[in-house]
Amino acid sequence: MTGRPHPRRLALISVHTSPLAQPGTGDAGGLNVYVWQTATRLARRGVEVEIFTRATSSADEPSVQAAPGVTVKHVPAGPFDGLDKRDLPAQLCAFSANVLRAEAAHEPGYYDLIHSHYWLSGQVGWLARDRWGVPLVHTAHTLAAVKNASLAVGDTAEPMLRVIGEQQVVDEADRLIVNTPTEASELVDLYGADASRVDVVVPGADLDRYSPGSKLAARGALGLDADDVLVTFVGRIQPLKAPDVLLRAIAPLIHADTTGRLRLLVVGGPSGNGLGLPDTLIGLAAELGVADRVTFLPPQPADRLAQVYRASDLVSVPSYSESFGLVAVEAQACGTPVLAADVGGLGVAVADGVTGRLVAGHDIETWTGHLADLLADPDRLRAMGTAAGIHAQKFSWDHTTDALLESYDRAVAAHRRAAGRSTGIFGLRRLRPRTRITV
Ligand code: UDP
Repeated sequence: MTGRPHPRRLALISVHTSPLAQPGTGDAGGLNVYVWQTATRLARRGVEVEIFTRATSSADEPSVQAAPGVTVKHVPAGPFDGLDKRDLPAQLCAFSANVLRAEAAHEPGYYDLIHSHYWLSGQVGWLARDRWGVPLVHTAHTLAAVKNASLAVGDTAEPMLRVIGEQQVVDEADRLIVNTPTEASELVDLYGADASRVDVVVPGADLDRYSPGSKLAARGALGLDADDVLVTFVGRIQPLKAPDVLLRAIAPLIHADTTGRLRLLVVGGPSGNGLGLPDTLIGLAAELGVADRVTFLPPQPADRLAQVYRASDLVSVPSYSESFGLVAVEAQACGTPVLAADVGGLGVAVADGVTGRLVAGHDIETWTGHLADLLADPDRLRAMGTAAGIHAQKFSWDHTTDALLESYDRAVAAHRRAAGRSTGIFGLRRLRPRTRITV
């Protein structure tokens, strides 16, 4: 800790998705959970948090008191409906103008710090930072250059527009926050980030909500059969998450299963730019002759999702690319082992051979082999589940929030030092020119 007071009032920018949206479908996923969990904890530590997100419904109130100390500001920028995430760059001017106007309605110096999430928000934060003369902390969450290096079959590459936009934000932000040391290296190697401005802040799980519990009770609550062997996928249904790989891998085991008890559970809705799934997945299950052994559930609220994890014998996260993989930590926190692709943050989230297995590549036969291996040994699976529950205790949003505050403090301290250098002895001069917008 720096010993200095933390920022008083934080402008948190999340342009493309609201923390109030149900995660697991559309553009709502881990970022929304991250923003909500850290914002509420920052507020409990005395930081007033205002979250700026794009209004996507005429019913959105301009300002919503979402939790004590957390306000969500719905910013008008483009039409409410039908605007694809890929069209959002054209709305950044409107979004930024309205964020600047909101600040201008307050006394000068209203916000101490800006934290932007995802590159679109970083673009807004960059402008606001220059206007307000406060530091900008940025979390990319995913990087186009990393995603493009491991695209799923049928997935479209992230456009150059995004790579350029990300690069600008990396160059401009006062501090950059990443989920893992690997991501820190990617920022430095692929985007030329200054390593001394990068902080590794590991995400968490809501350990009060995601905790071990009775498998039988969870299955009862969800209407699932007590005797089934249940492998589960949770997440937005999109090529990047590879639910099709899991389905293809488990199909031969379902065919070979003489007890008729092996079942795949798929929880989540289509992603903004998904395959048109789950329709495609349902079609694939039929094509593979396993439709009657695959259950699809729409996106679930967190309390029911905890029951899903507890009800499962194994949770699988086969993604092609994953900045961290909150699902893997949440499942383990519920005492369920995880079979995950050895990509991105999943290598941190899952302890290979202890709390689950990490699989290199996406070869279907290899995945079938790992599934068969784990499912053949229920005692080992149970032991891995117990170890998973213990391992997951390392990941809590409280730790994440503490580390965020340290990063914020560093950003503020560096900003003050720089301001001091440019101030001279005769008075206060702003580090950057500031033009106030009159409403
Ligand atoms: N999630 C949810 N309900 C669902 C499916 C997912 O609340 O039906 C949440 C899940 O709890 C997790 C987040 O969505 O916190 C997904 O985060 P993850 O990092 O696994 O993937 P991302 O969406 O960031 O790619």
